[in-house]
Amino acid sequence: MSLMRAELERRILEIVKQRGRNGVIQSELWSVLGVDNREGSRAVLSLVRKGLIKREQMLYKGRKTYVLKYVPEKLEEVSLKVSLNPVIKLPCFVCRELYRCGTGGFFNPYKCNLLTYFLQSNSD
Ligand code: SF4
Repeated sequence: MSLMRAELERRILEIVKQRGRNGVIQSELWSVLGVDNREGSRAVLSLVRKGLIKREQMLYKGRKTYVLKYVPEKLEEVSLKVSLNPVIKLPCFVCRELYRCGTGGFFNPYKCNLLTYFLQSNSD
C-alpha cells in the first residue's frame, strides 16, 4: 500500500470515528478530503475489508450513496517488532551442505547434529 493511500485511509478512519454512531455520508467525504470518487472509494473499500468501518446503503438528496460507520469492536492494526537475531544464528545459513540438504538425503535436517544442537540450546 502506498504512503498516500495509507494516509488517506487514516484520515477517512479518523473522520468516520469522529462522527460516531451517525456516521458520515460517503459522497460528502470526498469534498472534505479533496479526493475523487474513485480514489476515495478504493480507500473506503480497503477499510471495509479490514473490518474497521462498515458501509450502509442509503438515499441522500434523491441519490443512492453510503453512510460509513466506525466498527469499534474491531481492534486496530498493531505493529509488531520481531527480532531476527535467533534465526540469523541458524547453522544452515553458514552450512556448506545447505544446497544438498533435504528430507531423505544424506544431509538431512531431521538427522543433523548441528541443527539439533542449535534448536536444543535455543528452546525454553
Ligand atoms: S540441517 Fe544441518 S546439514 Fe542441513 S543445512 Fe542445516 S546445518 Fe547444514
